[in-house]
Amino acid sequence: MKDGFNREIDYLRISVTDRCNLRCIYCMPQEGISWIDHQEILTYEEIERLCRIFASLGVKNFKITGGEPLVRKDLPVLIKKLKKINGTKSVTLTTNGVLLEENLEALMEAGLDGVNISLDSLNKESYESLTSREGFHKTMRGIEEALKHPSLKVKLNCVPLKGINDNELVALARLAEDKALSVRFIEMMPIGFGKNFDFMGEEEIIELLEKELGPLKATEEALGNGPAHYYRAEGFMGRIGFISARTHKFCESCNRVRLTAEGYFKTCLQYSLGASLKEGLRRGDSDSEIEAIIVKALLEKPKGHEFDKDSDLQDGEDRRMFSIGG
Ligand code: SAM
Ligand code: SF4
Repeated sequence: MKDGFNREIDYLRISVTDRCNLRCIYCMPQEGISWIDHQEILTYEEIERLCRIFASLGVKNFKITGGEPLVRKDLPVLIKKLKKINGTKSVTLTTNGVLLEENLEALMEAGLDGVNISLDSLNKESYESLTSREGFHKTMRGIEEALKHPSLKVKLNCVPLKGINDNELVALARLAEDKALSVRFIEMMPIGFGKNFDFMGEEEIIELLEKELGPLKATEEALGNGPAHYYRAEGFMGRIGFISARTHKFCESCNRVRLTAEGYFKTCLQYSLGASLKEGLRRGDSDSEIEAIIVKALLEKPKGHEFDKDSDLQDGEDRRMFSIGG
């Protein structure tokens, strides 16, 4: 399906919950979160129906996210449903990895194609101060287990934070040295609590990595469906990637849209523009009526983010990263 700027949209990120078992300092507050009521969250049947409609419009790749998607019961059931949809190319998952090990078998059985695991530190103490929870060893075991499945594409995602984990970026990148995985560094976006932190830009990170790892050579390899670009370090099995929404804005080639846990179709991460699909679902709209809502909202997808400017359309605190799905 095409948006109003003729961009081909074939990737849907689906947030299945706003709940999480961690409290990353740049994402979720410790307390005082007003959770979405359970009855307001789409059921797996509702998500499946919407995904069928999206697939009929040309969406091929589905990414399940949260909050933390693995805290939602029976997630493999949803994955299995999405894999069966005509036109589906991939169903992948973004997770903090804490519950990965115990769910991996069922996820693989459901047909999961890839997993992105968020990891901002390799040190148990700093992991716990970044996430305010235990879970480091479980996450590391989840990564090891995931690597035992050659058909599963494994990527690690790290958000570099100046003065907090910048001393660990080389060690994190080195995980790609002898493992079949990519390590990606995500520039902190000024969304939700991310506004409270200084971001580290790609060039600054590359400079820091090259001091230890030698020159990083850009590669043209496409390793997924998203906006990451990749580098090769001498002697590394895996790649080092960057998702640099701030210093290398990629909106021009944006191929993605989002579905929030409460069924809101969101056409751009930064803005509240979109449409409630849950309303259509629950008042009994036909597939073609829902399709029309999607197509209309898509035509209003913004040209790009404007992180450096304030905008009336910008999402406020009510749609923080954990309720948008990252
Ligand atoms: N709980 C899952 C996880 O942590 O992977 C999925 C949801 S989480 C919101 C998705 C990704 O968004 C994580 O990699 C997280 O580090 C990232 N993230 C959260 N807030 C961010 C921000 N302000 N800027 C950039 N990335 C952010
Ligand atoms: Fe939870 Fe992911 Fe947000 Fe961390 S980044 S608090 S794991 S949703």
